[in-house]
Amino acid sequence: MRTIKKVAVLGSGVMGSRIACHFANIGLQVLLLDIVPMDLKEEDSKNPAKRNSLVNAALQAALKSNPSPIYKASFASRIKTGNFDDNLVEIKECDWVIEAIVERLDIKQQLFEKVEQYRKLGTLITSNTSGIPINMLIQGRSDDFKKYFCGTHFFNPPRYLRLFEIIPSAYTDKEVIQFFEYYADKFLGKTPVLCKDTPAFIANRVGVFSMAAIFKLQLEMGLSVSDIDGLTGTLIGKPKSATFRTADVVGLDTLIKVAKGVYEYCPNDLARDTFRVPAYVLKMEENKWLGDKTGQGFYKKAVIDGKKVILELDLNTLEYKASEKTKFASVGEAKMVDSLRTRLKILAKGKDKAAEFLNKLNYSIFDYVSHRVPEISDELFRIDDAMKAGFGWDIGPFEHWDILGVESVLTLMKEGGHQPAAWVEEMLTLGNTSFYKIEHGIQYYYDIPSKSYKVVSGKESFIILDYKRGETPIFKNTGCTVHDIGDGVLCVEFRTKMNTIGGEVLEGINKAIDIAEAEGWKGVVLGNNAPNFSAGANLAIVLMQAIEQEWDELNFAVRHFQNTVMRLRYSSIPVVAAPHGLTLGGGCEMSMHTDACMAAAETYIGLVEVGVGVIPGGGGSKEFALRLSDSFGAEDTWIPKLSERFTTIATAKTATSAYEAFDIGIFDHNKDFVVVNPDRAISAAKEKVLELYNAGYTKPVMREDILVLGRTGLAALYAGIASFQVGRYASAHDALISKKLAYVLCGGDLSEPTRVSEQYLLDLEREAFLSLCGEKKTLERMQSVLTSGKPLRN
Ligand code: NAD
Repeated sequence: MRTIKKVAVLGSGVMGSRIACHFANIGLQVLLLDIVPMDLKEEDSKNPAKRNSLVNAALQAALKSNPSPIYKASFASRIKTGNFDDNLVEIKECDWVIEAIVERLDIKQQLFEKVEQYRKLGTLITSNTSGIPINMLIQGRSDDFKKYFCGTHFFNPPRYLRLFEIIPSAYTDKEVIQFFEYYADKFLGKTPVLCKDTPAFIANRVGVFSMAAIFKLQLEMGLSVSDIDGLTGTLIGKPKSATFRTADVVGLDTLIKVAKGVYEYCPNDLARDTFRVPAYVLKMEENKWLGDKTGQGFYKKAVIDGKKVILELDLNTLEYKASEKTKFASVGEAKMVDSLRTRLKILAKGKDKAAEFLNKLNYSIFDYVSHRVPEISDELFRIDDAMKAGFGWDIGPFEHWDILGVESVLTLMKEGGHQPAAWVEEMLTLGNTSFYKIEHGIQYYYDIPSKSYKVVSGKESFIILDYKRGETPIFKNTGCTVHDIGDGVLCVEFRTKMNTIGGEVLEGINKAIDIAEAEGWKGVVLGNNAPNFSAGANLAIVLMQAIEQEWDELNFAVRHFQNTVMRLRYSSIPVVAAPHGLTLGGGCEMSMHTDACMAAAETYIGLVEVGVGVIPGGGGSKEFALRLSDSFGAEDTWIPKLSERFTTIATAKTATSAYEAFDIGIFDHNKDFVVVNPDRAISAAKEKVLELYNAGYTKPVMREDILVLGRTGLAALYAGIASFQVGRYASAHDALISKKLAYVLCGGDLSEPTRVSEQYLLDLEREAFLSLCGEKKTLERMQSVLTSGKPLRN
């Protein structure tokens, strides 16, 4: 198998600079090249800094952009910049050369001609083109170039969007395709989707169709911009930015370009007319209302009566106006429900204009995708994969159709004048009622040529808990499910809203450990396939008990949480967590106490309790004190180290990637690891359990040797807190919380540095937590987060 150590990225624009950052993210050496500025003065023509000014400025702009393209600022040092005239020769040292320059066939071809002069034979060479046919890009190139060339299409932003379309030409070697499928999944953390060399490939073809279909329906049904965004966003499992907000972010010009391209190059597309851009969109383009890049598009920011407001475009008058959202009965009913599947079914049965709009839209998309197989892909699942990974849809169109019922929807579609591809009817006639089915935890898709179900490839080694729903779980309550994930390993899946941790989740964890210990299971994984590992402890319960002043119950609940967290470490079986996405408060405390974490690179983890007016009370403060003690070297380092760790909790610092979490003391290099592909995190955690078990795991011994600094530490921290308060960087309540935190981290009011036990610190942390719950300002903070989702500074 090939190995990739060094990559050249040609072009440092929006995509090139960010692709370079993502390569740096995964530890590669990167050569990032762009043109020498065309307007260079004679006196600057030999100055390397001036010759590289374009690429350097582009890289700096990318690094400063939000959201950040880089896991950790220091990783940018892996990127070396240069220009095509002086540094193209260095591509001979690279294992992969990816082109991401301006979308023009002639310019790309000219660059490839130069690349041929320096590229080592056998080196991978690819293009990030969004739409230029791959077969045109290789015209005039050598056999070796053609053999190792294909399209590799990252989506913007490359760090965050998971889609990686692979587009072979007629000449691409099979080994190259297989390699990219493997490499994209394992190393780049992407969802590789094999495409054909058809206009706009898969995701943009279907994504822009969907948008164009909405433009068309808008004309027909006259719904407003905000009404359509309300209907086509999170309500139906699409991104929050829905349709028009997404158009503003992407840029109307880009969408028009793709739509025009499909219209021009797909004369036989039966739905070609849908890609004809409506007059109002063309007028917007003429007015340069392209979206965020020109300051206005379907939405526009304005100041009215001194207040910042967002106006929307009235598509009839092309004037901006205040948004007025229509209330639809079907939407109101659907919004009451958490489950996307149920919501979609409710909406499909609705009788109002919103339901009519969504049904018409769904039928157009279902019809369209049915005709795209085998034109753009031989396998239907690739269309779903592309839409999920590239456009952030929670479910793909075929999955959506399955949820609504293939046969009943087909009848309705025909009644509405649609004629989906004949294979759908044939599939039903053969007794196959859905596009997908799941058997024994494995997903199968309907394969049209063989008229039978085949395993969805590429996911064989993932553990997808949703596919286990048909099996009888080891244990289940309303908050979590304990699954048998094979080879003697259990997995506790949190199933609450935002995966918050309450009594049921704690019960599930304890049950899983009890069962594992009693029945000889090899270990336990804490993992789930939801977008976030856990938003923390269930705050609503804490708030309720605090308001009711049920101190005994609250004390019991916090102690139970602490005991459960301690069991994660001090049980006779290994427990490994697979954190990902938001892993906050209690979720972070749990992760810190496991024997190992196999964390997704995109893990946003932190102890954020001060935001709700308390300190970490589920073992987090104790664990920070313990780790601090283990890090103490010479005595003069104690106070600086204490201050640094104190600040992490006191400012509710959250890591913006798993790599950053090591720097702020939450992940530990001795036990925790990063898994770039989040889909692999649970199976990696299972492997880790087996590794620990096979190495002869024994129950660790509880610590009684934690060095805390007592008054010496308190003096330093209290002085810092006071100066922050005087400088008005901290409110009186911030100062109170900080002092309580300082007290726990220093082991209390001890006259000298002393060694204490974990339980001693747990008791201190619990006491501090409870006393803060008695503060009015803490309750106000909790209330604010629960009602508005926003932290309150009081
Ligand atoms: P961009 O305009 O931001 O950057 C283009 C780069 O090409 C610039 O760095 C520019 O200096 C360089 N360039 C210009 N003229 C050149 C020349 N004559 N020779 C060599 N280089 C030249 O473009 P982008 O958005 O980064 O797109 C780059 C590629 O990625 C295109 O093929 C595009 O279709 C594709 N793509 C873009 C997006 C996106 O959302 N922007 C998404 C996926 C794929």
